[in-house]
Amino acid sequence: MLIINCPYCGPREESEFACGGEAHIARPLAENSISDAEFADYLFLRDNPKGLFLERWRHSAGCRRWFNIARDTVSHEIIEVYPMGALPRKKDALATHAASWRRDTAAEKAAERAAQKPARQKAAAKKADGKRGGK
Ligand SMILES: [Zn+2]
Repeated sequence: MLIINCPYCGPREESEFACGGEAHIARPLAENSISDAEFADYLFLRDNPKGLFLERWRHSAGCRRWFNIARDTVSHEIIEVYPMGALPRKKDALATHAASWRRDTAAEKAAERAAQKPARQKAAAKKADGKRGGK
């Protein structure tokens, strides 16, 4: 049995948790213009590697919060526990994230573009404020 260190509750037995599968899968947004085949990649294709794997877990019998784990699928050693929306900090886990084929998918690139769009809009709004004699 694994002992998982919930970032919110501390170490607990594996039976209190539910594995949510592969982590860091970018969800295509409604405005994305990806093909059906590319959407199928997002929806159905999951890795099942032998070795280090980045997974989502939920403390279902505890705080019910989601977090990510970098776990070796052979030894079950948990290398790192880190929050949702963050990247792992440990070198091996970060390399696993960067090396994933998923970083090159159309859904990932579309999600990156969508994430950058609000930043550009904020910059444009700030620029407009400046022209109006604001701050
Ligand atoms: Zn918890």
